[in-house]
Amino acid sequence: MAGRVSIGQGAQFLDALTRVSNRSGVSQDIFETAMGFLDIECRAGGLWLPAQGLWLDPRRRRTGPEPVVVTHAHADHIGAHRQVILTRPTARFMRLRLGGRRAERIVAFGEPLTLEGPAGLYTLTLLPAGHILGSAMAFVQSDVGSLLYTGDFKLRAGGAAEPCDLSLVSSCDTLVMETTFGLPRYRFPPATAVWEAIHGFCRETLDQGGTPVLLAYSLGKSQEVLVGLGNAGFAVALDRDCHRIARLYEELGFPLPPYALWETSPAPGTVVVCAPNAARARRISPLTRPRLAAVTGWAMDTACRHRYGVDAAFPLSDHADFSELLELVDHVRPRRVWTLHGFAADFASTLRERGFDARTLGQPDQLSLGLPPAPT
Ligand SMILES: [Zn+2]
Repeated sequence: MAGRVSIGQGAQFLDALTRVSNRSGVSQDIFETAMGFLDIECRAGGLWLPAQGLWLDPRRRRTGPEPVVVTHAHADHIGAHRQVILTRPTARFMRLRLGGRRAERIVAFGEPLTLEGPAGLYTLTLLPAGHILGSAMAFVQSDVGSLLYTGDFKLRAGGAAEPCDLSLVSSCDTLVMETTFGLPRYRFPPATAVWEAIHGFCRETLDQGGTPVLLAYSLGKSQEVLVGLGNAGFAVALDRDCHRIARLYEELGFPLPPYALWETSPAPGTVVVCAPNAARARRISPLTRPRLAAVTGWAMDTACRHRYGVDAAFPLSDHADFSELLELVDHVRPRRVWTLHGFAADFASTLRERGFDARTLGQPDQLSLGLPPAPT
Protein backbone atom coordinates (compact mmCIF):
# COMPACT_ATOMS: atom_id res chain seq x y z
CA MET A 1 0.00 0.00 0.00
CA ALA A 2 2.20 2.78 -1.21
CA GLY A 3 1.54 6.37 -0.29
CA ARG A 4 -1.29 7.71 1.72
CA VAL A 5 -4.87 7.18 0.72
CA SER A 6 -7.53 8.92 2.72
CA ILE A 7 -10.86 7.21 2.94
CA GLY A 8 -14.13 8.07 4.54
CA GLN A 9 -16.59 10.88 4.73
CA GLY A 10 -15.06 12.91 7.52
CA ALA A 11 -17.45 14.15 10.16
CA GLN A 12 -20.67 12.57 11.22
CA PHE A 13 -23.53 13.01 8.81
CA LEU A 14 -27.22 12.40 8.69
CA ASP A 15 -28.56 9.95 6.19
CA ALA A 16 -32.10 11.15 6.40
CA LEU A 17 -34.33 13.50 8.26
CA THR A 18 -38.01 12.86 7.96
CA ARG A 19 -40.86 15.06 9.19
CA VAL A 20 -44.05 13.21 10.04
CA SER A 21 -47.18 13.90 12.02
CA ASN A 22 -48.49 11.88 14.89
CA ARG A 23 -52.14 11.26 15.67
CA SER A 24 -52.52 14.58 17.50
CA GLY A 25 -51.18 16.36 14.44
CA VAL A 26 -48.00 17.51 16.15
CA SER A 27 -45.06 17.19 13.82
CA GLN A 28 -41.90 15.36 14.92
CA ASP A 29 -38.41 15.22 13.57
CA ILE A 30 -37.27 11.64 13.21
CA PHE A 31 -33.64 10.92 12.57
CA GLU A 32 -33.76 7.68 10.61
CA THR A 33 -30.03 7.28 10.77
CA ALA A 34 -27.69 9.49 12.65
CA MET A 35 -24.58 7.36 12.35
CA GLY A 36 -21.63 7.97 10.07
CA PHE A 37 -18.46 6.33 8.91
CA LEU A 38 -15.19 6.33 10.77
CA ASP A 39 -12.35 7.98 8.88
CA ILE A 40 -9.78 5.44 7.77
CA GLU A 41 -6.50 5.95 6.02
CA CYS A 42 -4.22 3.51 4.27
CA ARG A 43 -0.77 4.15 5.80
CA ALA A 44 2.43 2.35 6.76
CA GLY A 45 1.23 -0.81 5.03
CA GLY A 46 -1.86 -1.01 7.22
CA LEU A 47 -4.84 1.03 8.36
CA TRP A 48 -4.88 4.18 10.45
CA LEU A 49 -7.97 5.50 12.24
CA PRO A 50 -7.10 9.18 12.90
CA ALA A 51 -10.06 10.00 15.16
CA GLN A 52 -9.24 7.01 17.36
CA GLY A 53 -5.45 7.29 17.06
CA LEU A 54 -5.35 3.56 16.34
CA TRP A 55 -3.31 1.45 13.94
CA LEU A 56 -4.53 -1.83 12.45
CA ASP A 57 -1.85 -4.25 11.18
CA PRO A 58 0.74 -1.73 9.90
CA ARG A 59 3.68 -3.49 8.25
CA ARG A 60 6.11 -0.68 8.98
CA ARG A 61 7.34 -0.21 12.54
CA ARG A 62 5.30 2.27 14.59
CA THR A 63 7.21 3.94 17.42
CA GLY A 64 4.73 6.66 18.41
CA PRO A 65 2.38 6.62 21.39
CA GLU A 66 -0.59 5.35 19.38
CA PRO A 67 -1.47 1.68 19.99
CA VAL A 68 -1.21 -0.91 17.23
CA VAL A 69 -3.65 -3.78 16.87
CA VAL A 70 -1.85 -6.89 15.59
CA THR A 71 -4.56 -9.26 14.38
CA HIS A 72 -2.26 -12.30 14.06
CA ALA A 73 1.40 -13.20 13.84
CA HIS A 74 1.95 -13.92 10.14
CA ALA A 75 4.92 -12.02 8.79
CA ASP A 76 2.87 -9.53 6.77
CA HIS A 77 0.96 -8.43 9.88
CA ILE A 78 3.67 -7.95 12.51
CA GLY A 79 6.33 -5.34 13.21
CA ALA A 80 8.62 -4.13 15.98
CA HIS A 81 6.10 -1.58 17.22
CA ARG A 82 6.30 0.30 20.50
CA GLN A 83 2.98 -0.85 21.91
CA VAL A 84 0.61 -3.49 20.67
CA ILE A 85 -2.88 -4.76 21.45
CA LEU A 86 -3.25 -8.46 20.71
CA THR A 87 -4.29 -11.88 21.98
CA ARG A 88 -2.05 -14.04 24.15
CA PRO A 89 -1.16 -16.53 21.36
CA THR A 90 -0.30 -13.70 18.98
CA ALA A 91 1.97 -12.16 21.62
CA ARG A 92 3.79 -15.48 22.09
CA PHE A 93 4.23 -16.01 18.36
CA MET A 94 5.49 -12.44 17.93
CA ARG A 95 8.06 -12.89 20.68
CA LEU A 96 9.29 -16.03 18.96
CA ARG A 97 9.45 -14.48 15.52
CA LEU A 98 10.62 -10.93 16.26
CA GLY A 99 12.43 -11.07 19.58
CA GLY A 100 12.93 -7.72 21.31
CA ARG A 101 10.59 -6.11 23.78
CA ARG A 102 7.47 -4.04 23.38
CA ALA A 103 4.55 -2.94 25.50
CA GLU A 104 1.90 -5.62 25.12
CA ARG A 105 -1.72 -5.16 26.02
CA ILE A 106 -3.10 -8.68 25.93
CA VAL A 107 -6.86 -8.99 25.68
CA ALA A 108 -9.24 -11.92 25.58
CA PHE A 109 -11.69 -12.44 22.75
CA GLY A 110 -14.92 -10.58 23.34
CA GLU A 111 -13.49 -8.39 26.13
CA PRO A 112 -14.32 -4.75 25.28
CA LEU A 113 -11.51 -2.24 25.81
CA THR A 114 -12.39 1.39 26.33
CA LEU A 115 -9.71 3.60 24.78
CA GLU A 116 -9.34 7.32 24.29
CA GLY A 117 -8.37 8.86 20.97
CA PRO A 118 -8.23 12.43 19.67
CA ALA A 119 -12.00 12.41 19.09
CA GLY A 120 -12.89 10.90 22.45
CA LEU A 121 -13.67 7.52 23.90
CA TYR A 122 -14.31 4.43 21.82
CA THR A 123 -14.51 0.68 22.32
CA LEU A 124 -12.26 -1.94 20.77
CA THR A 125 -13.18 -5.63 20.89
CA LEU A 126 -11.14 -8.50 19.44
CA LEU A 127 -13.16 -11.39 18.00
CA PRO A 128 -11.92 -14.85 16.94
CA ALA A 129 -11.12 -14.78 13.21
CA GLY A 130 -10.68 -18.55 12.69
CA HIS A 131 -7.50 -18.05 10.64
CA ILE A 132 -4.74 -19.36 12.95
CA LEU A 133 -4.44 -19.73 16.72
CA GLY A 134 -5.03 -16.32 18.34
CA SER A 135 -6.08 -14.59 15.12
CA ALA A 136 -8.53 -11.76 15.70
CA MET A 137 -10.88 -9.39 13.98
CA ALA A 138 -10.98 -5.83 15.37
CA PHE A 139 -14.41 -4.33 16.11
CA VAL A 140 -14.35 -0.58 16.78
CA GLN A 141 -17.42 1.21 18.13
CA SER A 142 -17.58 4.99 18.53
CA ASP A 143 -20.13 7.78 18.64
CA VAL A 144 -19.51 8.32 14.93
CA GLY A 145 -20.09 4.76 13.82
CA SER A 146 -18.72 1.22 13.97
CA LEU A 147 -16.06 -0.56 11.95
CA LEU A 148 -15.19 -4.24 11.64
CA TYR A 149 -11.71 -5.02 10.33
CA THR A 150 -11.45 -8.73 9.54
CA GLY A 151 -7.70 -9.21 9.10
CA ASP A 152 -7.22 -12.70 7.65
CA PHE A 153 -10.15 -14.95 8.50
CA LYS A 154 -12.16 -18.02 7.65
CA LEU A 155 -15.62 -19.12 8.74
CA ARG A 156 -15.12 -22.90 8.26
CA ALA A 157 -14.02 -24.87 11.27
CA GLY A 158 -10.27 -25.59 11.12
CA GLY A 159 -8.05 -28.00 12.97
CA ALA A 160 -5.66 -25.49 14.55
CA ALA A 161 -7.52 -22.26 15.35
CA GLU A 162 -10.34 -21.01 17.52
CA PRO A 163 -13.59 -21.03 15.50
CA CYS A 164 -14.61 -17.66 14.10
CA ASP A 165 -17.27 -16.05 16.29
CA LEU A 166 -19.19 -13.00 15.10
CA SER A 167 -22.08 -13.30 17.52
CA LEU A 168 -21.23 -9.88 18.99
CA VAL A 169 -21.56 -8.20 15.58
CA SER A 170 -25.11 -8.14 14.26
CA SER A 171 -24.39 -5.15 12.01
CA CYS A 172 -21.72 -2.54 11.36
CA ASP A 173 -21.36 0.72 9.48
CA THR A 174 -18.01 0.00 7.83
CA LEU A 175 -16.56 -3.40 7.00
CA VAL A 176 -12.92 -3.65 5.92
CA MET A 177 -12.39 -7.22 4.75
CA GLU A 178 -9.66 -9.34 3.24
CA THR A 179 -10.67 -10.83 -0.12
CA THR A 180 -7.79 -13.19 -0.94
CA PHE A 181 -10.11 -15.66 -2.69
CA GLY A 182 -12.63 -13.13 -3.98
CA LEU A 183 -13.56 -14.88 -7.23
CA PRO A 184 -16.41 -17.42 -7.68
CA ARG A 185 -14.00 -20.13 -8.84
CA TYR A 186 -12.50 -20.25 -5.33
CA ARG A 187 -15.19 -22.31 -3.65
CA PHE A 188 -13.34 -24.95 -1.70
CA PRO A 189 -14.56 -28.56 -1.57
CA PRO A 190 -15.62 -29.97 1.81
CA ALA A 191 -12.68 -30.52 4.16
CA THR A 192 -13.52 -34.23 4.50
CA ALA A 193 -13.02 -34.71 0.75
CA VAL A 194 -9.73 -32.79 0.83
CA TRP A 195 -8.45 -34.86 3.74
CA GLU A 196 -9.42 -38.11 2.00
CA ALA A 197 -7.30 -37.02 -0.94
CA ILE A 198 -4.34 -36.02 1.28
CA HIS A 199 -4.49 -39.31 3.18
CA GLY A 200 -4.67 -41.22 -0.11
CA PHE A 201 -1.59 -39.41 -1.44
CA CYS A 202 0.37 -40.23 1.72
CA ARG A 203 -0.68 -43.91 1.82
CA GLU A 204 0.08 -44.43 -1.84
CA THR A 205 3.52 -42.79 -1.51
CA LEU A 206 4.41 -44.83 1.58
CA ASP A 207 3.14 -48.07 -0.04
CA GLN A 208 5.51 -47.42 -2.95
CA GLY A 209 8.45 -46.99 -0.59
CA GLY A 210 8.60 -43.21 -0.92
CA THR A 211 8.43 -40.29 1.52
CA PRO A 212 5.38 -38.00 1.40
CA VAL A 213 6.40 -34.36 1.92
CA LEU A 214 3.57 -31.89 2.56
CA LEU A 215 4.42 -28.22 2.10
CA ALA A 216 2.60 -26.02 4.59
CA TYR A 217 3.77 -22.73 6.06
CA SER A 218 5.04 -22.96 9.57
CA LEU A 219 2.55 -20.91 11.63
CA GLY A 220 -0.94 -22.35 11.54
CA LYS A 221 -1.05 -24.45 8.40
CA SER A 222 1.59 -26.99 9.46
CA GLN A 223 -0.24 -27.54 12.77
CA GLU A 224 -3.52 -28.01 10.92
CA VAL A 225 -1.86 -30.56 8.65
CA LEU A 226 -0.34 -32.30 11.68
CA VAL A 227 -3.79 -32.60 13.28
CA GLY A 228 -5.35 -33.99 10.09
CA LEU A 229 -2.58 -36.55 9.64
CA GLY A 230 -2.29 -37.52 13.30
CA ASN A 231 -6.04 -38.08 13.61
CA ALA A 232 -5.76 -40.57 10.74
CA GLY A 233 -2.91 -42.45 12.42
CA PHE A 234 0.04 -41.20 10.37
CA ALA A 235 3.45 -40.71 11.99
CA VAL A 236 4.55 -37.11 11.33
CA ALA A 237 7.89 -35.29 11.37
CA LEU A 238 7.99 -31.48 11.30
CA ASP A 239 10.80 -29.24 10.09
CA ARG A 240 12.49 -27.03 12.66
CA ASP A 241 10.25 -23.95 12.27
CA CYS A 242 7.04 -25.95 12.20
CA HIS A 243 8.25 -27.96 15.21
CA ARG A 244 9.09 -24.86 17.25
CA ILE A 245 5.65 -23.38 16.63
CA ALA A 246 3.94 -26.71 17.39
CA ARG A 247 5.67 -26.63 20.79
CA LEU A 248 4.23 -23.15 21.37
CA TYR A 249 0.74 -24.35 20.41
CA GLU A 250 1.03 -26.97 23.14
CA GLU A 251 2.38 -24.47 25.69
CA LEU A 252 -0.67 -22.33 24.93
CA GLY A 253 -2.90 -25.28 25.81
CA PHE A 254 -3.75 -26.41 22.28
CA PRO A 255 -3.52 -30.23 22.09
CA LEU A 256 -1.69 -31.74 19.11
CA PRO A 257 -1.11 -35.36 18.03
CA PRO A 258 2.41 -36.82 18.51
CA TYR A 259 5.12 -35.48 16.20
CA ALA A 260 8.88 -35.73 15.75
CA LEU A 261 11.53 -33.25 14.65
CA TRP A 262 12.63 -33.83 11.05
CA GLU A 263 16.40 -33.52 10.90
CA THR A 264 17.90 -35.85 8.29
CA SER A 265 16.27 -39.21 7.75
CA PRO A 266 12.80 -39.65 9.24
CA ALA A 267 11.77 -43.07 10.48
CA PRO A 268 10.25 -45.34 7.80
CA GLY A 269 6.52 -44.76 7.34
CA THR A 270 6.73 -41.08 8.35
CA VAL A 271 5.05 -38.16 6.59
CA VAL A 272 7.26 -35.05 6.51
CA VAL A 273 5.59 -31.65 6.92
CA CYS A 274 7.73 -28.62 6.11
CA ALA A 275 7.47 -25.00 5.10
CA PRO A 276 7.84 -24.32 1.36
CA ASN A 277 11.17 -22.54 1.90
CA ALA A 278 12.63 -25.69 3.53
CA ALA A 279 11.78 -27.64 0.38
CA ARG A 280 13.25 -24.93 -1.81
CA ALA A 281 16.46 -25.12 0.24
CA ARG A 282 16.80 -28.71 -1.07
CA ARG A 283 16.59 -30.17 2.38
CA ILE A 284 14.40 -32.86 0.88
CA SER A 285 17.15 -34.30 -1.31
CA PRO A 286 18.40 -36.85 1.30
CA LEU A 287 14.90 -38.26 1.65
CA THR A 288 14.01 -41.60 0.11
CA ARG A 289 12.04 -41.03 -3.10
CA PRO A 290 10.30 -37.88 -1.89
CA ARG A 291 6.92 -36.96 -3.37
CA LEU A 292 5.88 -33.36 -2.73
CA ALA A 293 2.41 -31.92 -2.26
CA ALA A 294 1.39 -28.31 -1.63
CA VAL A 295 -1.44 -27.69 0.83
CA THR A 296 -2.93 -24.35 -0.19
CA GLY A 297 -6.13 -22.71 -1.34
CA TRP A 298 -4.36 -21.93 -4.63
CA ALA A 299 -4.66 -25.64 -5.42
CA MET A 300 -7.99 -24.64 -6.98
CA ASP A 301 -5.90 -23.31 -9.88
CA THR A 302 -4.82 -25.91 -12.43
CA ALA A 303 -1.40 -24.21 -12.67
CA CYS A 304 -0.73 -24.65 -8.96
CA ARG A 305 1.28 -27.87 -9.24
CA HIS A 306 3.55 -26.33 -11.82
CA ARG A 307 3.88 -23.08 -9.89
CA TYR A 308 4.92 -24.85 -6.71
CA GLY A 309 6.93 -27.56 -8.48
CA VAL A 310 5.10 -30.37 -6.70
CA ASP A 311 3.54 -33.73 -7.55
CA ALA A 312 0.14 -32.83 -6.10
CA ALA A 313 -1.74 -29.90 -4.59
CA PHE A 314 -4.66 -29.95 -2.15
CA PRO A 315 -7.05 -27.03 -1.53
CA LEU A 316 -6.90 -26.69 2.24
CA SER A 317 -6.72 -23.02 3.22
CA ASP A 318 -6.91 -20.93 6.36
CA HIS A 319 -8.58 -18.12 4.42
CA ALA A 320 -12.26 -17.68 3.62
CA ASP A 321 -13.35 -18.92 0.21
CA PHE A 322 -15.68 -16.96 -2.07
CA SER A 323 -18.84 -18.30 -0.39
CA GLU A 324 -17.57 -17.44 3.07
CA LEU A 325 -16.70 -13.89 2.00
CA LEU A 326 -20.31 -13.43 0.90
CA GLU A 327 -21.56 -15.10 4.08
CA LEU A 328 -19.58 -12.67 6.22
CA VAL A 329 -21.04 -9.66 4.42
CA ASP A 330 -24.56 -11.04 4.76
CA HIS A 331 -24.02 -11.59 8.47
CA VAL A 332 -22.62 -8.20 9.46
CA ARG A 333 -24.88 -6.20 7.08
CA PRO A 334 -22.42 -3.33 6.55
CA ARG A 335 -23.46 0.04 5.17
CA ARG A 336 -20.13 0.30 3.37
CA VAL A 337 -17.46 -2.26 2.47
CA TRP A 338 -13.78 -1.79 1.72
CA THR A 339 -11.99 -4.79 0.20
CA LEU A 340 -8.27 -5.50 0.33
CA HIS A 341 -5.81 -8.23 -0.62
CA GLY A 342 -6.17 -10.74 -3.44
CA PHE A 343 -9.12 -10.23 -5.77
CA ALA A 344 -10.23 -7.05 -4.03
CA ALA A 345 -11.54 -5.22 -7.12
CA ASP A 346 -13.44 -8.26 -8.38
CA PHE A 347 -15.08 -8.89 -5.04
CA ALA A 348 -16.03 -5.24 -4.58
CA SER A 349 -17.67 -5.43 -8.00
CA THR A 350 -19.56 -8.58 -6.96
CA LEU A 351 -20.84 -6.77 -3.88
CA ARG A 352 -21.93 -3.74 -5.88
CA GLU A 353 -23.93 -6.03 -8.16
CA ARG A 354 -25.65 -7.25 -5.00
CA GLY A 355 -26.53 -3.71 -3.98
CA PHE A 356 -23.75 -2.96 -1.49
CA ASP A 357 -21.70 0.22 -1.35
CA ALA A 358 -18.37 -1.53 -1.91
CA ARG A 359 -14.97 -0.18 -2.89
CA THR A 360 -11.42 -1.42 -3.21
CA LEU A 361 -8.61 -0.55 -0.85
CA GLY A 362 -4.93 -1.26 -1.22
CA GLN A 363 -2.94 -3.02 -3.88
CA PRO A 364 -3.97 -3.84 -7.45
CA ASP A 365 -5.38 -7.24 -8.21
CA GLN A 366 -2.67 -9.89 -8.00
CA LEU A 367 -4.00 -12.18 -10.72
CA SER A 368 -4.05 -9.42 -13.30
CA LEU A 369 -0.33 -8.99 -12.68
CA GLY A 370 0.23 -12.72 -13.12
CA LEU A 371 2.04 -12.99 -9.80
CA PRO A 372 1.72 -16.10 -7.67
CA PRO A 373 0.23 -15.05 -4.35
CA ALA A 374 1.84 -16.13 -1.10
CA PRO A 375 1.05 -19.66 0.08
CA THR A 376 -2.12 -19.81 2.13
ZN1 LIG B 1 -2.43 -14.62 7.83
